[in-house]
Amino acid sequence: MLAVMRRLSLCRPQRPALCRLVFGVAVFLLPVIAAAAAASDDFAACIDRLQARALEEGVSEPVVRDVLGKARRLERVVELDRRQPEFTATFADYLERRVTEARVARGRALLEEHRVLLADAERRFGVPRQYLVAFWGLETNFGAVFGNIPVPDSLATLACDPRRSDFFTAELITALRIVDAGDIEPGRMVGSWAGAMGHMQFLPSVFARFAIDGDGDGKRDVWGSLPDVFASAGNFLRELGWDAGVRWGREVLLADSFDYATAGPDERRPLSQWPGFGVTDAFGKPLPALDLPASILVPAGHGGPAFLVYDNFDAIMRWNRSEFYALAVGHFADRIAGAAPLQRRLSADSARVTVDEVRQLQANLTSLGYEAGEPDGIPGPATRKALRRFQADRELVADGYVDPAVVVAVRNATALARPSQDPNP
Ligand code: CA
Repeated sequence: MLAVMRRLSLCRPQRPALCRLVFGVAVFLLPVIAAAAAASDDFAACIDRLQARALEEGVSEPVVRDVLGKARRLERVVELDRRQPEFTATFADYLERRVTEARVARGRALLEEHRVLLADAERRFGVPRQYLVAFWGLETNFGAVFGNIPVPDSLATLACDPRRSDFFTAELITALRIVDAGDIEPGRMVGSWAGAMGHMQFLPSVFARFAIDGDGDGKRDVWGSLPDVFASAGNFLRELGWDAGVRWGREVLLADSFDYATAGPDERRPLSQWPGFGVTDAFGKPLPALDLPASILVPAGHGGPAFLVYDNFDAIMRWNRSEFYALAVGHFADRIAGAAPLQRRLSADSARVTVDEVRQLQANLTSLGYEAGEPDGIPGPATRKALRRFQADRELVADGYVDPAVVVAVRNATALARPSQDPNP
């Protein structure tokens, strides 16, 4: 390198400082450049393998050559895939960011603007129009942000990254089949960094199975045709088990005496039994005496709102496996259809819990004999169940809600339970 720099006259004897500077920068950059070159070699080899595989699986030669063959590796996609959140989301945070008053107003306006199309989808698939608009709003802010990353690039990048290669290889090949089928020109096939496409953010596998040509032009265009978008979402939800005659759930009020051990998605009872547990509607009035299976959820703990959720809540969870998401869809749909905000206000977001603290909480609960599952930093059902048992044993409100106070309580209990470190007590 020194020789090259000499030839470029950067290292003449009269310029020692400049020489040192340029040499230093070059030495610093070399590993970066070498790593990028290696990644790009690996990527080229990976694309070769993927091309062979796509041909084997019946994707046409022109699409394999012109679409997959020209896919680019996007470093940013890998970074986003590896991003780890520092804090766990709270329900207050989650809901307030997504179901804003401005979005409710926009949802109501769009419900009116597209009422003919939406009514048609509702008739065909049995999903009331306000839910279609709610999914639309939560997925892409009603089509305002559906991502502009070329799907062949994002999926090829992720297929060639070891972390989730099998999953994204399958999605990539399905995406190529969609291009092959003529549904979309490859240049218009854009999506999120993870390959979720169009107004409703369908992955290629979801598109392939459930997307529908709503306007009858022979193409399933979830990027540019709202009839296709609403029909596809309606069809997907029907296939996920949407029950046309029933709502998703509702906000309820719990009596002070409510036993939180009966809350949670696994605790299912007919709606007609819940009044006996101290449950009324959100205004304190009796619930309808129906035979629907229903569970109580308290996503912000006993200090926040409570919900009764029905089978359609599970259908929403099959679209996106997140309780917060499913509650947001249900509540947003109600608001779009004219309902008031939640009766029980969400408390302002107090101190949040970090992912590391949740990991520690999980390990502590397990060490105390309350099996909390793999310490993954996510307060999922197993963690909340373990926490409920911990709380019940200490006569705390057993709502299974992870907040800073309970993190400290479990930490203190763990320290007390540990045998003394002092050899001479
Ligand atoms: Ca169409």
